[in-house]
Parts: sequence; C-alpha cells; structure tokens
Amino acid sequence: MNRRRPLLAGNWKMHLNIPQAVELAHAVTAACADCTDRDVMLAPPFTALASVALALQGSSVLLGSQNVAWEAQGAFTGEISPPMLTDIGVHMAIIGHSERRQIFFEDDAMINRRLRATLEFGLIPVLCIGETLQDRESGATFTVLEKQLRGALQDVVPEQAEQIVLAYEPVWAIGTGKTASAEQAQEAHHFLRSLLAGMYNKKVAESIRVLYGGSVKPDNIDILMTQADIDGALVGGAALSIDSFKRIIRFQ
Ligand code: PEP
Repeated sequence: MNRRRPLLAGNWKMHLNIPQAVELAHAVTAACADCTDRDVMLAPPFTALASVALALQGSSVLLGSQNVAWEAQGAFTGEISPPMLTDIGVHMAIIGHSERRQIFFEDDAMINRRLRATLEFGLIPVLCIGETLQDRESGATFTVLEKQLRGALQDVVPEQAEQIVLAYEPVWAIGTGKTASAEQAQEAHHFLRSLLAGMYNKKVAESIRVLYGGSVKPDNIDILMTQADIDGALVGGAALSIDSFKRIIRFQ
C-alpha cells in the first residue's frame, strides 16, 4: 500500500430523511471507533447535514457536502455557501460529480469557481472527474480526463492543489453495477498523477489522494485498494447500508 492515508467516502445523494441519516451516521461512527489509519467521510443531503454533524461529534468521521456555492452570500437561490457549511462543521465538499455535470449542466468553469471557493474558505474539495462510456469506447478517456482536470484546477496554485482530493469516477460505472477493473482504475489514476506532476510538481502529485468511484462494493474494494495509485473510494449505493459500508471501510 502507498503512504497516503486512505479515505473512504460515502455519498448519500438524495437519500435518507433526518432520523435515517442520524441512525446511519451513528452506525458509521461505531464502525469507525478503532479506525486510526484511515479517514472516513459522509456526505448526507443538505437537509440532514446539521443533524449528522451532531451525530458525528466526538468521532473521527468527517462531514462532507454534496456541492457548494462559489460565493459567501448573495442572490443565489438554491445554493449553499462555503461559510454556511463550515459554520455547521462541514470539512469537505464534493464538487463536479457527474450527476451535477450531466443533469444540472455544470461545466468545468463553474466547477473551477466552486473549487476555488472551497479552498478560499477552508473546505477540502473532493473533485470528481470521469469519462462516459462513449468517451471510453472512442478512445477519448485520457483527453476527457485531462480537460476536466485542467479546467477544474485553473488558477489553483501548488500550495492549494496539495489539499484537494481527486475522485476518478468513470460515468459508465456509477450506479450501474459495472466497476472499472482494478487495472483500468489504476491506469487512469496513474495517468492523473502524472498529469498533476506536470501541472504542478512531483511533491503535489504524490500528496494528492485519488479516490476511485463507480459501483464500489464489499467484493471489489480489497482488490481496488491494492493498486499503487488508488487511495480510497467514493461510494454511492453501498454507502447507504451499514453492512456494506462497514466492510468497505474495513478493506483489507
Ligand atoms: C457516486 O455516487 O459517486 C458513486 C460512485 O455511486 P455508486 O457507488 O452507486 O456507483
């Protein structure tokens, strides 16, 4: 295993009401009571963030949001600002998830604004990038990944870049039950790390955690985590059940 600290993150998407979210958060804190060598993060829906923040008090489990606005305040109906999130104990913010890109038409420029705002206000961005099936089948995977990465990190300096978490999430693997093979994931992660070394330097590239996301389950987490450039997982469906998420947290 490499020397970066693993991060296992659960994206609950638009699931769970407040009591359900609090119950699952308590179960995750119990499952993480002895997790000293890895980080665990939960990203509940916005309505449950404050209640889950209370449930996580005293535990090492980190709180994440599923998106974040790029301004501190103002006329941005439907958005939640970085200081509003840090106010209630949010530590990380998922940015550029493929569902935001595809369903809500977020582009690289908007994702870049969101990402720079998280850094400015002390949140850690979890930047998601990934190719569609059409991109992969037409041989455009690396071109697409490079465009998304460069677009999101425009005007981000090395000292800031070091703090980000990157999530490689092939769109064809999200919620489909199709996982990238460990070799496919490692190839993409290695490509991204080399790209970061060129955009910044080797130190930055080596310190950034690159998560894999796309149908991560108890039966594929162990093999994924054996790969040199895979530093953890961003988990959707399997993060909604304590049995499966617990096994993922406790990858071997
Ligand atoms: C995700 O939501 O980022 C994700 C990877 O979902 P799933 O694990 O369900 O594919």
